[in-house]
This record gives sequence, structure tokens and C-alpha cells, in this order.
Amino acid sequence: LGLPRLATGDVLRAAVRKRTPRGLEARAFMDRGDLVPDDVILGIVREELERPAAARGVLLDGVVRTVPQAEGLERVLGALGRRLDHVLLFDVDAEELVARLSTRTVCESCQTPYMGRDAGSECDKCGGKLVRRADDEPAAIRRRLEVYEEQTAPVVEWYRRSATSVQRVDAKGTIDSVTRRALGSLRNDPAQE
Ligand SMILES: [Zn+2]
Repeated sequence: LGLPRLATGDVLRAAVRKRTPRGLEARAFMDRGDLVPDDVILGIVREELERPAAARGVLLDGVVRTVPQAEGLERVLGALGRRLDHVLLFDVDAEELVARLSTRTVCESCQTPYMGRDAGSECDKCGGKLVRRADDEPAAIRRRLEVYEEQTAPVVEWYRRSATSVQRVDAKGTIDSVTRRALGSLRNDPAQE
């Protein structure tokens, strides 16, 4: 799509590494698998949306995760004179998610994710060290799934009620096939002009 991707998780983890005040505040929540407070998330989203690189649009990844965040995002977008065009819901069952996350490592330097590669091996892109994220440990994964059911699943209903089109994407299978389905659902989105 040629749009910058804004993954608040990555932005937050960068802040944690640099030990900024926002990073230190967020860290305790993330390590437990809990959600980072809304004002921290929305502050990041707003800063990123105001950057020139975001003028044509942004792909939000991992935002929003709660109904209050969805309401907050509406306010941020309204203040900036922008709007949400599409919502994609990537649908995978819990067992598949646990299997994926428990074999995931990420590059410490460039954040590229890898499946089935051991922590400590080298990143193909930058030579950085692959690490396992604290919130990908099994206990934190279970906690994240509980948090999803309690707090994130209701966001889907909220968007449906607010007349925002939500496209469900079957996210089982290879990266290529999921990518094709995601692009296909954007093309078929009735909200698209
Ligand atoms: Zn790397």
C-alpha cells in the first residue's frame, strides 16, 4: 500500500530500550502482558500521525485494543481532521496463536520477527541478536489472550455499531496467503470510495 506502518508495540519497545520516561512507565505493564495505559498509546499515535511521513495515511497495527482507546482514537483523528477508512480483523484461533508466539523471536535492533529461530541467533537483515520477548513467554501469552477476550473483542462490536466497516480476514496459513486475503478484503470493502 506504500503507507508507513505504525505498530505502537514497536514504538513502545523502542522507548523502553532508550529508557525514556514513557518507556519506563510502559515497561512494567508490557512485561506482565497487560495493556499499556490509553493516554500513553494515544499520545504515541498522535505524534506519529502528525509526522510528514504519515500525510497520505498510516497502517495502525496493534491499535486500538480497548473501547476507550477506540473512543480516544476518534477524538485524536477528529482533532487532526482525519478519519479511519478501514478496519481489518485478523482471525486466528487461540491454539494457533499460542503455537506461533511460543516459537517467535525478534531482532533486538530492527524488530524483524522470526518464527522457529532460536534466541541468540543473528538477524538476516541487520546482523542483530534475536531475542524472545518477555510477553511471548507462555504465562504472558495466556494472560494476553484473556486480556484480548475481556478488552479487545468488544472493540469489534463497537466499530460495527459505529457504522465503521469491519472486514474479517482469515489469518490461518502462510504470510502470502493471508496478505492476499487482506488486500482482497480492502478491495471489496463497501466503505472504499
Ligand atoms: Zn535486525
